[in-house]
Amino acid sequence: MRIVRHVDDAREGLRDARAGGRRIGLVPTMGAFHAGHLALIGAARASCDVVVVSLFVNPAQFTQPDDLARYPRDEAADARAAEAAGADLLFVPGADEMYPEGFDTWVEPGELGRLLEGEMRPGHFRGVATVCTKLFAIVQPDVAFFGRKDAQQVAVIRRVVADLNLPLEIVALPTVRDADGLALSSRNVFLSGEQRASALALPRALEAGHAAHRAGRDPVAAAREILDAEPGLEVDYVAVADFDGQTLAAAIRVGSTRLIDNARLE
Ligand code: AMP
Repeated sequence: MRIVRHVDDAREGLRDARAGGRRIGLVPTMGAFHAGHLALIGAARASCDVVVVSLFVNPAQFTQPDDLARYPRDEAADARAAEAAGADLLFVPGADEMYPEGFDTWVEPGELGRLLEGEMRPGHFRGVATVCTKLFAIVQPDVAFFGRKDAQQVAVIRRVVADLNLPLEIVALPTVRDADGLALSSRNVFLSGEQRASALALPRALEAGHAAHRAGRDPVAAAREILDAEPGLEVDYVAVADFDGQTLAAAIRVGSTRLIDNARLE
């Protein structure tokens, strides 16, 4: 696996593959890899000739300076894990490479980027849409892989790709969970044992919401009931939205850690 830090080197590293008509897959990430990331890389490996993984903690999508400052980073471990999962090229740009002096163009999602996560974190999806559009332009993949764990992100990216006529396919993969049901997230490392126990109300609530929906009842009310009963957590939102299909989405805060999760209702 090659590690490159500059846009020109990434392009150069992919020139022959592109000229040879080989299928290029991209997995955009912010690192601190867990089995969810590795599932995306594995899916890319299984269906592409060349697998590119980007590792960039994108300042533009963070809305709290503390969250950016404490975001877990371990490039050496990530490089080993990406290689073992089958990556051919690891693109690790610095912030200056992605947002050089004078950078002044943004991809601004519309309504889809303003609700739920977008409302809680204004500007978040503008950062996501911009960095993904840049990565698509740099790597020019045939296909890019995203996790349904971030269902609204998948919906926003699909919208961007459709609206800007970007020539790639978007593949969304199911959420990978720990044995106790908690969705894997780079931010889970911040949870104490007690906080993790509270956080487990999130997948439980989504399960209950899904069951309520199947039984013809209100999924939001069913999920809310479980989250409201759990001490030690604050609910940011519970709602049904059309994210790549009808989705029950929720965000909670446990101490200073914010977690999101969702369940597809169809
Ligand atoms: P991140 O590094 O958090 O930006 O995530 C990079 C990609 O991995 C995104 O497409 C996420 O949706 C995906 N991802 C994160 N957590 C999971 C998970 N538990 N299962 C599946 N995909 C995930």
